[in-house]
Amino acid sequence: MIIVMKPSSNEEDVSRISSKIEELGLKAHISKGSRKTIIGVIGDIDEKAKNLDPIALFSLDPSVDMVYRVSRPYKLAARESRAEDTIIDVKGIKVGGDTFTIIAGPCSVENREQMLTTARGVKKCSAHMLRGGAFKPRTSPYSFQGLGEEGLKLLKEASEETGLPVVTEVMNPRDLDVVMKYADVLQIGARNIQNFALLREVGKTDKPVLLKRGMATTIQEFLMSAEYIMSEGNADVILCERGIRTFETATRNTLDISAVPVLKKETHLPVIIDPSHAAGKRDYVPALSRAAIAAGTDGLLVEVHYNPKIAVSDAAQQLTIEEFCDLVQDLKKIGEVVGKRIQ
Ligand code: PEP
Ligand code: MN
Repeated sequence: MIIVMKPSSNEEDVSRISSKIEELGLKAHISKGSRKTIIGVIGDIDEKAKNLDPIALFSLDPSVDMVYRVSRPYKLAARESRAEDTIIDVKGIKVGGDTFTIIAGPCSVENREQMLTTARGVKKCSAHMLRGGAFKPRTSPYSFQGLGEEGLKLLKEASEETGLPVVTEVMNPRDLDVVMKYADVLQIGARNIQNFALLREVGKTDKPVLLKRGMATTIQEFLMSAEYIMSEGNADVILCERGIRTFETATRNTLDISAVPVLKKETHLPVIIDPSHAAGKRDYVPALSRAAIAAGTDGLLVEVHYNPKIAVSDAAQQLTIEEFCDLVQDLKKIGEVVGKRIQ
């Protein structure tokens, strides 16, 4: 069960409700968000409340806004706990609802010219946010690891010139403070989906989090990871399907398009797809992107480079600016049919 406190509630109200929960032999899990406090009731409320109505027991308290019953293990992320879609606002850019949001940019921030040229290119063709990795999770420790803070500064410069908010990965709780200085959205990469310490840390911030599904993560595990972030008080989580590992080797990963309707049913959080890391090859990226908008996703995270041939990471999968522009035109047409607006 979830108890949503009124915005006007204070510490005393929260501790009164928590004590009431504990008196029943249950546990209270308090999530203090910047806007509201939510108390999760952990345990079997029906058994403990005996013949009392558990909803009435709490909803009569004047400091309580709403009481929900949630059967899913991911309480805050569950559609059961919130029927309407969550719409996240990133500096005026909406993610979720009836808009389709396009996040584009290179795999890695490489240098000033690359970042500025690519940012200008994607801006010209309707991208809403700019991506680029400054801390890179590479399979080999000998591969390019990212420019770190220098890369974040270049991203910020490109963001200030184009007006596109910055989406960038944080790999380690140690780097969170520096990434927070430059990022508008904190990306958690596929390999960190179950780094619970990192999830808790980003959950304590007030920045939206773009959470990528792991390559061997079930949908339930994916939602439980979102729940880690939300349980710390940060409700702004964007889920990103980026392909999972299967026996197929023709593509880098297999885009799990079925995850889209499943997630849409199970959660109110926005769902986007990353066709680049799913496909691994640029030729396949447009088809997967078209499938994604048609399936009902809320956006795209796509790798674009002004000259992919010289890219230092993921050269094979990054679109050119021209390819990106053509793709956006197609997405706009499909968006009109499926009721997704691309600004
Ligand atoms: C990325 O988007 O930069 C990235 C590394 O992707 P993933 O974590 O999905 O592999
Ligand atoms: Mn990449």
